[in-house]
Amino acid sequence: MAQGLVTVAYIAASILFILALGGLSKQETARRGNVYGIVGMAIAIIATIAAPEVVSYGVLVPAMIIGAVIGGYVAKKVEMTGMPQLVAMLHSFVGLAAVLVGIASYIDPRSVFVGVEATIHEVEIFLGVFIGAITFTGSIIAFGKLDGRIDGKPLMLPFRHGLNAIAVLICLWLGYMFLGIPDHGGLWALLIMTVIAFAVGAHLVMGIGGADMPVVVSMLNSYSGWAAAATGFMLGNDLLIVTGALVGSSGAILSYIMCRAMNRHFVSVILGGFGTGGGSAAAVEGEAVPTSHDNVAEMLSEANEVIIIPGYGMAVAQAQSTVSEITKRLRAKNINVRFAIHPVAGRLPGHMNVLLAEAKVPYDIVLEMDEINEDFGHTDVVLVIGANDIVNPAAQEDPGSPIAGMPVLECWNARTVVVLKRSMATGYAGVDNPLFYKENTRMLFGDAKESLDTVLSKIES
Ligand code: NDP
Repeated sequence: MAQGLVTVAYIAASILFILALGGLSKQETARRGNVYGIVGMAIAIIATIAAPEVVSYGVLVPAMIIGAVIGGYVAKKVEMTGMPQLVAMLHSFVGLAAVLVGIASYIDPRSVFVGVEATIHEVEIFLGVFIGAITFTGSIIAFGKLDGRIDGKPLMLPFRHGLNAIAVLICLWLGYMFLGIPDHGGLWALLIMTVIAFAVGAHLVMGIGGADMPVVVSMLNSYSGWAAAATGFMLGNDLLIVTGALVGSSGAILSYIMCRAMNRHFVSVILGGFGTGGGSAAAVEGEAVPTSHDNVAEMLSEANEVIIIPGYGMAVAQAQSTVSEITKRLRAKNINVRFAIHPVAGRLPGHMNVLLAEAKVPYDIVLEMDEINEDFGHTDVVLVIGANDIVNPAAQEDPGSPIAGMPVLECWNARTVVVLKRSMATGYAGVDNPLFYKENTRMLFGDAKESLDTVLSKIES
């Protein structure tokens, strides 16, 4: 393919990626956004492999086939609840790719840069490898934390901010050395910096506590974008630069939105050690009152106003279609049913919206926290389905709580709150929840899907 045609294809792909991001910002247009993204990526891949400088098809084609088969298999197999881990793992690949491309492009004997161009190229390499290495290990630790293989509690090494600062200063010095050595002689500096950046990435994410993980997920998304953009500079590939910048900046904006939603300072979360709380959480006392399926069905049928709060447990139980069915049945009785979505409900930004859309719950009754938080006071029944941290009043009442200051759904202001979960266990942040012991709270123990199936069978249609 002629170079001009490749450039045209790259421009088309860039436009499609921008349209994809625009589409993904609203549920109604998300499907279309995804299609734009897929078409854009297909054009990008075809144009890249057909570019005049690409000649090693013997290596490229088998590698692409193996990658496509593994990717297709994993995507088909993954459960909705495993999506966050998968995303974290994919971010780590982008980071590793930036590291490998950076090192390869430094030792490439065909490198033709001289003078200022060579210096610029080396700065691109050094920065790209640095960001890539942090993204790689940071994403692996995030994968471990999301998958429950690594403890969600932040690792609080003594003098941890100092350690990070020293590591960055050493990397700056190594960068200075790297740029000063001609003829690929700076490889040692590049490799030592890579090892240090690996350690910094792991340490940064190890230092972030359970409740702040949503910010980490979006932050690593942003880092992976910048790593890709840096790779684009190294390879002189405009499309990779544009795509990387799109991912990097949208991830940064998402992180900022998540921080605002959780009432956290962006920099504090990135530096780590938050999400544990400085003080200690107050002990929760009282007795939780269990209820029965019959009671819940009766309460729902007699209510005028119902709000449903879905959480991670709804995703685990795959209860969304039963929830949708119950909603339909109650709405048919002229009961006003709405959904309250907390920005960090579940394990992925937008997790609950995706599940509800999948179960065909109408968009107009799905409301964000800020739109509905005032309405609990005049609500008859709130159904909390497998949610915990996002409805924890300790965030407002206990300054020593690890989640102190995080905005929560104030469901306890309703007449009755029914919490569906299997036990009295804590949520992701590992914090006890006083909501379960409030006078107007009833616990419906059991798997959310099974409980809701039974409740549905008892609501007359
Ligand atoms: P939580 O993790 O706080 O609580 C989920 C609850 O669901 C648990 O208490 C569990 O209790 C219950 N549960 C699990 N399985 C089932 C089941 N099969 N049936 C019924 N209940 C079940 O979830 P929330 O959605 O309230 O809060 C999200 C948390 O995850 C926040 O701390 C957030 O910071 C964090 N997070 C969010 C991310 C995001 O981007 N949205 C990313 C990473 C972390 P039991 O075991 O007793 O059943």
